[in-house]
Amino acid sequence: MAVTERLYYSDSHLIEFEARVVDVTDRVSGWTAIVLNRTAFYPTGGGQPSDTGTLNGARVVECIDGGDQGVLHVVQGVAPARDALVKGRVDWPRRLDHIQQHTGQHILSQAFVTLFNGPTKSFRVLETACEIDIELSNPTTEIIERAVELANNVIWEDRSITILNVTSDEAAELPLRKEPAREGELRLVEIEGFDLTPCGGTHAYRTGEVGMIAVRSWERAKGLTRIEFVAGTRALADYRKANKSAREIAALFSTGRDDAPNVAAQTVEENKELHRRIRGLEELAAEVEAEKLLAGAREGVVMHVFAGRDAESLKKLAHALVVHPRTIALLGSRDKDTARLVFARSTDAAGDMSVLMREACATIDGRGGGKPDLAQGGGKNVSKLSDALTAAAHALRA
Ligand SMILES: [Zn+2]
Repeated sequence: MAVTERLYYSDSHLIEFEARVVDVTDRVSGWTAIVLNRTAFYPTGGGQPSDTGTLNGARVVECIDGGDQGVLHVVQGVAPARDALVKGRVDWPRRLDHIQQHTGQHILSQAFVTLFNGPTKSFRVLETACEIDIELSNPTTEIIERAVELANNVIWEDRSITILNVTSDEAAELPLRKEPAREGELRLVEIEGFDLTPCGGTHAYRTGEVGMIAVRSWERAKGLTRIEFVAGTRALADYRKANKSAREIAALFSTGRDDAPNVAAQTVEENKELHRRIRGLEELAAEVEAEKLLAGAREGVVMHVFAGRDAESLKKLAHALVVHPRTIALLGSRDKDTARLVFARSTDAAGDMSVLMREACATIDGRGGGKPDLAQGGGKNVSKLSDALTAAAHALRA
């Protein structure tokens, strides 16, 4: 007989029990692993996380399935001694959550088999959601929502869930949803008139206990369809979170929750249109500005330092300047700790802007380059920006 009698096999809702300590080992982590002659604690396995709880005063932080060595209860705090009698208590909210996710998975998986002949290849209970990987030839949101609808109907029909212990010969005669992963006696979980599958996890007494199932998202992954879902209390928590986000976004647009997507889409369109108009106006402004700067230029060289002007705006102005014949633009802009430079010349003017730019950038401790007719750069030494431009203008006249 196995070291540990697993009480959760016969009653998934048993959370208080008494047991005797049969083994105590100190773990490298400084914690202690306790083996009991019987336990209601479910150890990590089958996609379902471990239970937590207490053994007398000590905290059970994790349970590990040791196979023939029994269930290892990893405890923090004062560990009970070998042969001691202990009172165990499983954390019920966590167990209920796992029951809901795990039973929900049985129901959802069978819904995909019933409707679309799509078997589940793997299952995981994660921190806030669950994942199943399903073989689906043509996944769409509509197809997935049809399976979700069937699953919820099965939940609300409140069907009974029973455990059957059978031999492998008996199992071979039964229509199991998936092949058993082990030999010998098998534990089957039957959802009345809907699903029959081998499983060692903790399940609801009736499907109604699962509450509801909702799909958060899905994606194709490694040839399968990965579906992220939530069941029971997680579905309610997820609804609250989603509703809060949706209402906050709606408030930004001064509209109701359900109108927010349309209003937001409209605003995005308006924003794009405004950007187009701004670009047009900037070009117009650059043309006017270029005329003004040219009027004060000496020998066709326009040299000017602006405050807080971005590279795009400097380039626009440079373009507007060099459409005029025999014109050279030496433009700079300074922010608190950044200097920017754009040099350009009209096709009929002399001088290599990229050479001038490299020299100017050396002066302002930065980098830059480009082509003979257009170059740009920047640097950190803002105080040397005017010197760099003056030197470039001298070089042109030399
Ligand atoms: Zn199960």
